[in-house]
Amino acid sequence: MKKLSVIVPCYNEEAATPLFYETFIQKTADMAVEFELIFVDDGSKDGTLAAFRALRDRDERVHYISFSRNFGKESAMFAGLEAAQGDYIAIMDVDLQDPPELLPQMLEGIEQEGFDCVATRRVTRKGEPKVRSFFARQFYKLINHISKTEIVDGARDFRLMTRQMVNSILELKEVSRFSKGLFSWVGYQTKWLEYENVERVAGETKWNFWKLLVYSIDGIIGFSTAPLALASVMGVVFCLLAFLLMLYFLIKTIFWGDPVAGFPALICIILLLGGIQLFSVGVLGQYLSKTYLETKKRPIYIAKERC
Ligand code: UDP
Ligand code: MG
Repeated sequence: MKKLSVIVPCYNEEAATPLFYETFIQKTADMAVEFELIFVDDGSKDGTLAAFRALRDRDERVHYISFSRNFGKESAMFAGLEAAQGDYIAIMDVDLQDPPELLPQMLEGIEQEGFDCVATRRVTRKGEPKVRSFFARQFYKLINHISKTEIVDGARDFRLMTRQMVNSILELKEVSRFSKGLFSWVGYQTKWLEYENVERVAGETKWNFWKLLVYSIDGIIGFSTAPLALASVMGVVFCLLAFLLMLYFLIKTIFWGDPVAGFPALICIILLLGGIQLFSVGVLGQYLSKTYLETKKRPIYIAKERC
């Protein structure tokens, strides 16, 4: 029988963990595969690890990795992918926002229809603040415009992959990981399943607007170099503008003289150009800082305990 590894990243999820386990076992009882559940404790401060241990005592198929601190969901997913032994590998949130009842259908996509990966996307953003949905949409529009890697709007991390695809993902060792991009970058045939947004069963979301903004900037920096070109383009545009203005003032002075005026305009121009220059330096800094962090080659996570 084929083996299916399910990776579940958890951060402060003591309430959701047992609920997830019960629901998962119940909904996947009819599947003709052997299971392996890999829970990853991303440095939780509550009883998440104790909840894992309790599950492990009941069920040998449960494994866990516990981090020395919070490394973020991206690191947790990577640790799970490294530990997975299965022929098929799935990633799921513990809060049951990723319905386990979709798994049989996902497996069919791989086994019968020959896909390498079956991924999911939410078609609605019900229950999410309007402003957040708006910015999320704009982010997907922007990144797909400037990046060659396709980032699907509403894509979740919930997906089922073949061993071959996971091995390819594991070859990408970068420290700042943006999985939505990495999954797409490795290629392979992906089938998309759509479903309505589900509210989480217990606990609360670990994401706020600020964290999402930083995460989206990571995505842009990781998968596009277009912002770097922006500085050069603006430089050329402003040089042309300056040249035209020089001509204009030269002709104006020759024919109409040169009374001193235009102090406010001067201030505006200085501020505008100064702003653009600082912005460009900032963009450079973003790429440089990423490069700096990557060259240190620090591990993606540190495991304190595994079972
Ligand atoms: N998570 C994690 N590390 C973190 C933040 C979140 O492992 O630093 C896990 C979390 O426990 C959950 C999943 O990632 O299983 C998705 O998080 P959440 O439900 O908070 O995100 P949302 O569904 O609201 O986007
Ligand atoms: Mg969630």
